[in-house]
Amino acid sequence: MVISIPDLYDRYRECAGVSTDTRKITEGCLYVALKGDKFDGNLFANDALEKGARYAVVDNPDVATDSRYLLVDDGLTALQELARYHRSTLTIPVIGLTGSNGKTTTKELILNVLSKKYRTYATQGNLNNHIGVPLTLLAIDNQYEMAVVEMGANHQGEIRLLCSIAQPTHGLITNVGKAHLEGFGGIEGVRKGKGELFDFLAQTGGTVFVNAQSEVLVEMQKERLFREAIFYQLKDQYEIIADNPVVVFRDEAKQVIRTHLTGRYNFDNIAAALCIGKFFGVPAPDANEAVAAYNPTNNRSQIIQKGSNTILMDAYNANPSSMAAAIQNFMKLEADRKVVILGDMYELGDESPAEHAALGELIAQGRFDTVILAGQDMRYALASLPKAYYFPDKFSLHNWIMDHPFENTAILIKGSRGMGLESVVQFL
Ligand code: ATP
Ligand code: MG
Repeated sequence: MVISIPDLYDRYRECAGVSTDTRKITEGCLYVALKGDKFDGNLFANDALEKGARYAVVDNPDVATDSRYLLVDDGLTALQELARYHRSTLTIPVIGLTGSNGKTTTKELILNVLSKKYRTYATQGNLNNHIGVPLTLLAIDNQYEMAVVEMGANHQGEIRLLCSIAQPTHGLITNVGKAHLEGFGGIEGVRKGKGELFDFLAQTGGTVFVNAQSEVLVEMQKERLFREAIFYQLKDQYEIIADNPVVVFRDEAKQVIRTHLTGRYNFDNIAAALCIGKFFGVPAPDANEAVAAYNPTNNRSQIIQKGSNTILMDAYNANPSSMAAAIQNFMKLEADRKVVILGDMYELGDESPAEHAALGELIAQGRFDTVILAGQDMRYALASLPKAYYFPDKFSLHNWIMDHPFENTAILIKGSRGMGLESVVQFL
């Protein structure tokens, strides 16, 4: 017999944590079997129990041989409903965060700022999808006073679903840019898809934080009626003193804050975090300290000094918006020699050739000493870059770099996650 969600919730309360991966089972956890294209979690349920899981949620009656197996109609739906049920028992503020770029960076900054005053839980790493968001919610226990939930999407309706689970009371869209164009159906589609967070907050009487410098976000705010809308980056609120290689700025009290973040675009992320900190009463000096102390990881806008070279490592991902932001930022950097090593931008569908060609034109404006391109679609960028070095894959690129060492050079590395261009560093 299929278990009801309230009964499943009682079982979850007996457990220590939730896991969907038998490689990460912890003693006493609730294992939820999920199915993917290439795997069926039901087949690992026994394994999970042997490794210490207290119960295994399965949707195949054939594997449910004793009372430790909890049978549901569908594992993924059960996970989401369980998370939704748990969320409805929580009374803390939940800040929902989406956008085309900068979600994880902004989330980490908000976490650091809010942690100065509250016990805050935030999405671990990049667990921001239809599985990650439920897992995030289920990890929030009653020791926490506040939560920050990153929501990712690459098609319509996804943010709506994630909002129905996380039920945010506050929300922020970092920006609306050219990312996942294929799944969303162009830039208007991105605006609509990300707007689902605003729709939810308008309908439920939530609060939105809006970047006053972003025309599109301000428009999106005006299109809906919110109980409360808080604007940040108002004119004269901050003064950016430097943005290369790291962002240095003066806050409202004229204090100078030096960060570890490179790229002017990161200032948007910082301003969002400071705005939220201020809203929730974190004292400004504490919030500033949290921002100054934040060091990015995982190849997101990191600065690496290697020998005489300065590497701007931004190989975590790329799309036309973030690529343009990174290149424009790099153009302004003062250095004796500048080299860009750029890889394909994925998930652009039919627009890929044109977007890579446009990127080529932008790179040409940068007058970099050396332009190195890797990936199938980067060949479309070559039309504007007759002197560029081109490699269809990153392995031929590795070989070339080993034979052509750089010195006293600033090097920007960026490409889509699938390109994994961070591997280049070992050869520099
Ligand atoms: P994902 O969709 O993979 O979850 P994300 O939205 O969480 O990405 P981050 O991981 O914070 O984004 O940053 C990824 C990259 O996006 C950074 O390395 C940087 O190049 C770029 N980026 C970060 N913030 C911004 C911003 N505000 N505007 C434009 N580009 C940005
Ligand atoms: Mg992210």
